[in-house]
Amino acid sequence: MEYLLGIDIGTSGAKTALFNTDGRVAASATIEYPLYQPKNGWAEQDPADWWRAARDGIRRVIEDSGAKAADIKGVGLSGQMHGLVMLDKDGQILRRAIIWCDQRAAAERDEINRLVGEKRIIEITANPALTSFTAAKILWIQANEPELYARRARILLPKDYIRYKLTGEYATDVSDAAGTQLMDIGKRNWSDEVLSKLGIDRGLLGSTHESADEAGRIHREAAAATGLAPGTIVAGGAGDNAAAAVGMGIVRPGSAFTTLGTSGVVYAVSDEVTIDLAGRVHTLCASVPGKWTVMSCTQAAGLSLQWLRNEVCTAEVEEAKRANTDPYALMTQMAADVPLGAEGLLYLPYLMGERSPHPDPHCRGVFFGLSAKHTRAHLIRAVLEGVAFSQRECVEVFREMGVSIRDMMICGGGARSALWRQLLADLYGLPVSTIKTDEGPALGAAILAGVAAGVYVDLPQACDHIIEKDTTTNPIPGNTAAYAGYYSLYKKLYISLQDDFKTLAALTGGR
Ligand code: ADP
Repeated sequence: MEYLLGIDIGTSGAKTALFNTDGRVAASATIEYPLYQPKNGWAEQDPADWWRAARDGIRRVIEDSGAKAADIKGVGLSGQMHGLVMLDKDGQILRRAIIWCDQRAAAERDEINRLVGEKRIIEITANPALTSFTAAKILWIQANEPELYARRARILLPKDYIRYKLTGEYATDVSDAAGTQLMDIGKRNWSDEVLSKLGIDRGLLGSTHESADEAGRIHREAAAATGLAPGTIVAGGAGDNAAAAVGMGIVRPGSAFTTLGTSGVVYAVSDEVTIDLAGRVHTLCASVPGKWTVMSCTQAAGLSLQWLRNEVCTAEVEEAKRANTDPYALMTQMAADVPLGAEGLLYLPYLMGERSPHPDPHCRGVFFGLSAKHTRAHLIRAVLEGVAFSQRECVEVFREMGVSIRDMMICGGGARSALWRQLLADLYGLPVSTIKTDEGPALGAAILAGVAAGVYVDLPQACDHIIEKDTTTNPIPGNTAAYAGYYSLYKKLYISLQDDFKTLAALTGGR
């Protein structure tokens, strides 16, 4: 029996899964690690935690499956995008990684516009200068931690740190590199113009590869640490969304998916580089050669529900513990009993600022319309609906850009909820489907490894062979229309509050 290994460096934990070549899971392990928030709007993780989680995960799945190391034909990496890992000349970690949702680099985003030009940065990187992309974070370190920056020898994305530990290679793939704001998206390689204008040496960055090409082999030391065979092929891999796309069979134009993970994503494949000049959504390289994607990112989708669970629904957490069930299942059950529109309670999911469709580091979460009749169940429903509204707003931007969607899949922790799936179907006015093997980015990473190792001919062939739909949720007739009023009020609230968010940020010093 032949196997493929997929590793996904997520925000809550690293998921490692071993698949057979039909895409069935032989064994899987998720190991969690902490998220550090030293200040409001800051978000960091320790790359050493990622490595420990990946290493132990690999050991565990090999042991649990009983697979022979020689039968594991390839390793695929996937991970949270836009992070900044800095290493010194000995390959040692210089500081905690600044991760995707960190919002500290607002001044550096303006600096990128000044150095490269507001229009030029969009022409080259297909995205306006962004606080959350890696480039602004590098400039932040240059400005705020110059002594540390002086010791830099390598800059890596989160999953590529794991590649370095596994293979000794400094390398990345085009889909992940596209989220650094240092890449020429049309050419699918680093942009010398952007790098020189930002004063970033190209030698700091790894070589770029297509996602399904080989980009390293397991070295001896890593083999001893993980139980993998030395020489096993490691594919270029992909950013978490590009990997999830492959894992859901989204490899052809017209197909799309929504992720309800910590962040919320809508991702659609296109044949060309299509850019939204207002910068509401991102254009990136797909993990399919010669294809691009448009992608939106809601910073706090699942995170909104997680925050509510941790800070407000402590009674439900206790009850779930007693009943030995999942607190989210309990919470979403309560929300299902609340009528559509949460009896006049709306939620804006801007707990971490926002990226799509409002690139705004200053906006913050809002409950609007709160009254004495509302209960925790209403708060939960409002959060689920607010996150679904924000996904719908992103799909509207895609439609404006001429990217049409025929087929919508859904994944991430939130896809476990039948209610959340229904809200999305109602708001999109489209059926949404889950797949049978919802292993998300880990499966996509394993498929990329399979193509790199020659197990499959190409990505479409691999996906047709492996991916099978599970549930399909159709819009409930009448609900799309019933939401129209709430949805347009939701959209209006951001516009009404835009200046107030800035005032609040000034009052709190952006903390
Ligand atoms: P990550 O993006 O960190 O990889 P996941 O894809 O696992 O995370 O998604 C985690 C989120 O999924 C949680 O924050 C929570 O909002 C949501 N979630 C998990 N389980 C459920 C559930 N049963 N019902 C609704 N939402 C859920």
